[in-house]
Amino acid sequence: MSTPSLLILPGDGIGPEVMVEVRKIIDWLSNHRGISFEVSEDLVGGAAYDAHGVALHDATMAKAQSVDAVLLGAVGGPKYDNLDFSVKPERGLLRLRKEMDLFANLRPAQCFDALADFSSLKRDLVAGLDIMIVRELTSGSYFGEPRGIFKEGNERVGINTHRYTESEIARVARAAFELAQRRSNRVCSMEKANVMEAGVLWRDVVSEVHQAEYSDVELSHMYADNGAMQLVRAPKQFDVILTDNLFGDILSDCAAMLTGSLGMLPSASLGSPMDNGRPKALYEPVHGSAPDITGQGKANPSACVLSFAMALRYSFNMGKEATRIENAVEGVLADGVRTADLLQADGEQPVTTSEMGNAIVARLTASL
Ligand code: NAD
Repeated sequence: MSTPSLLILPGDGIGPEVMVEVRKIIDWLSNHRGISFEVSEDLVGGAAYDAHGVALHDATMAKAQSVDAVLLGAVGGPKYDNLDFSVKPERGLLRLRKEMDLFANLRPAQCFDALADFSSLKRDLVAGLDIMIVRELTSGSYFGEPRGIFKEGNERVGINTHRYTESEIARVARAAFELAQRRSNRVCSMEKANVMEAGVLWRDVVSEVHQAEYSDVELSHMYADNGAMQLVRAPKQFDVILTDNLFGDILSDCAAMLTGSLGMLPSASLGSPMDNGRPKALYEPVHGSAPDITGQGKANPSACVLSFAMALRYSFNMGKEATRIENAVEGVLADGVRTADLLQADGEQPVTTSEMGNAIVARLTASL
């Protein structure tokens, strides 16, 4: 097979800072595991606007379409807040998601034991937590037509349309079932079939796909409001949660907070398989560009490092190396190494972004 290709888009704020640490891991894989990537790097967000007047240059978009996977840092920052909506840094990210048709957003909520006390829930509810939320990302309430603010008589009316086709539901359901088969083989699908027709269709189609193609996976259904309650009552009951764009937006943020810091949360957005069988894929930390700490060496690189680990697992079929990286991050935390966002007690000394990256690399070497 040809060398796998990776496009790195560091972006703005702490994006480039955390990406330096991912580069150390890419180098480590090449030096110690004989795993090489054809890595290219380009601009996105405010950095692309500064250089080209747009948040994503056409040439960068074309590159993103041609590589095996894209790894993005973060976009945005106060410098760009007053730009026209059409050129705002976030448009770069939205263009990537839209044109690559990344319909399945994967957000793991994993609680490392060393961070269990960071959760807003009691330690025994979250220690060892490992759930995956699969959110439909390209349809539903955020895209449905008609949408807008219209005049109706003497008052304005705001309209968004919650619309799903069967094929949109089926393809994201398949993504969830396939993920479950690589985990604990359970999917809980969440919608509001009790009050929404689109929810009834969602439940029907998920059940049909399950029966026809994935009957070995355990499937359950839950109303999304109950799902929110269950996530904070007993989150460990879930393995894979499958849900739509709107409910997924809320439920995935809720699940994320079970695990502590934004600096620890990776994500993947996957599309249809390409000719080589790999899915179109964009990996990125959940956090933004964190302008309040940019340039201070305070950023936690773990979320970006863990996003790269997801790329190894889901794009490159290198689950063993992904686990090695996840274990290295967990090991570093167990050693008490903390960036500033993870400090718990007065007097604890934080390490810098670079020291955190070095500690992860040292753990990787120790794993050999
Ligand atoms: P943010 O995620 O950038 O920061 C929220 C808080 O978390 C800040 O206090 C920040 O210092 C902290 N934080 C975030 N990541 C961290 C890390 N890796 N290590 C340590 N601390 C970390 O969210 P925000 O402040 O609401 O947004 C800042 C900018 O980022 C805005 O322009 C926003 O539009 C953009 N944004 C981009 C993305 C993205 O690129 N996907 C996501 C969210 C926000």
